[in-house]
Amino acid sequence: MRERIAILGSTGSIGVNTLKVVSRLKERFEIIALSADSNADLLSRQARKFRPKIISLRESFLSTKIRKLIPSRTKTVFGIEGLNEIVSRSDVDLVVFAISGTSCLIPLITAIEKKKRIALANKEAMVSAGAILMNRAKANGVKIIPIDSEHSAIFQCIYGEARHLSKIYLTGSGGPLLNIRKDRFDRLSKAFILKHPKWKMGKKISVDSATMMNKGLEVIEAQHLFQMNEDRIEVLIHPEAIVHSMVEFSDGVVFAQLAVPDMRLPIQYALTYPERSACIVGNVDFSKIKKLSFSKPDIKRFPCLGLARQAVKDGGAAPAVLNASDEETVKNYLEGRILFSDIPKIIEKILSRHKNSIKDEPRVNDILEAERWAREETKLLCSR
Ligand code: NDP
Ligand code: MG
Repeated sequence: MRERIAILGSTGSIGVNTLKVVSRLKERFEIIALSADSNADLLSRQARKFRPKIISLRESFLSTKIRKLIPSRTKTVFGIEGLNEIVSRSDVDLVVFAISGTSCLIPLITAIEKKKRIALANKEAMVSAGAILMNRAKANGVKIIPIDSEHSAIFQCIYGEARHLSKIYLTGSGGPLLNIRKDRFDRLSKAFILKHPKWKMGKKISVDSATMMNKGLEVIEAQHLFQMNEDRIEVLIHPEAIVHSMVEFSDGVVFAQLAVPDMRLPIQYALTYPERSACIVGNVDFSKIKKLSFSKPDIKRFPCLGLARQAVKDGGAAPAVLNASDEETVKNYLEGRILFSDIPKIIEKILSRHKNSIKDEPRVNDILEAERWAREETKLLCSR
């Protein structure tokens, strides 16, 4: 029988790539559910092609628009309840979380409790509520398979040897500002900031790559997924973007995962794990690459990396506050209300104002409350 898949966030960069992978592996996978926020046009086109049993959009007013455009047997649902309904269905085996931001936290928890296999692209929920998610996954015997390329690389490197893992080298290309002076950042156009040299991604993660908050979020994501202290996760700038991360084992041996930078690879691996499937992207041509280089990141030019590490050290709800404040500042930057250089300054202020009263493991409500507070405070600072 084919594995039955739900893709939450099917209209985004990861979602569209996931559908490309599924199209190549039709004999293995069947699409049961798709979802979008508001892009009803693309979602309806996907629904006509893949004929899912159910689709979800954020708001019910979009239903009139989409009803006539989708197969008559496809059910339409809305909002968080709609996503919860999808991940609770008995005919869904595997859920791909390709939504951006922490709005998918509750459906992610529901999917874990319903014991679904999870392919996780979304990083914000893991940053905000990593301990809760990992504990529930363990209690329910659920495997969370990462799609984020670095985490997929680490996951592949430690296969069968996780108990010997002693250090992680998290690589990053350095983003579009790697070789640009800090005093020029605010003079660059939004289009420049959004154009990543190696990956084509959604807007939020592209801005995060430019500030290097993306790497900071990934340190926290790796900390939870691989149960590793933050001080044993080293970030390395690797502009060629061929080594997607490396792990060091207790005997000092290092394993690296190398591949062309194309998200269809980690997506395919997450879907077919523990099997591998035929190559769908090109192979690495080492004679053309010539060199693979690594260097330390410049925390002065990219303070977000330091803020993320600080949030981990502060513990409690601090990572949730960091993440929510980042989501809000990025939104305000994209809407033209703040400068690029304001992003780390505002997040730093919010973190310093946060009364981190929960020192133990926060509960879901603590996380949601901390996020709500951080968003409100960030909005105020962005509107000044
Ligand atoms: P996109 O912005 O391209 O896509 C986001 C998707 O989520 C869209 O389908 C969007 O719908 C939907 N969505 C957004 N907000 C909501 C909401 N509040 N409720 C329901 N659905 C929502 O993002 P990406 O595909 O780039 O990234 C998705 C996630 O994967 C992020 O967490 C990112 O960090 C992570 N990731 C992405 C990588 C990449 O290469 N793109 C690499 C590694 C990780 P609509 O189209 O209607 O707006
Ligand atoms: Mg990544």
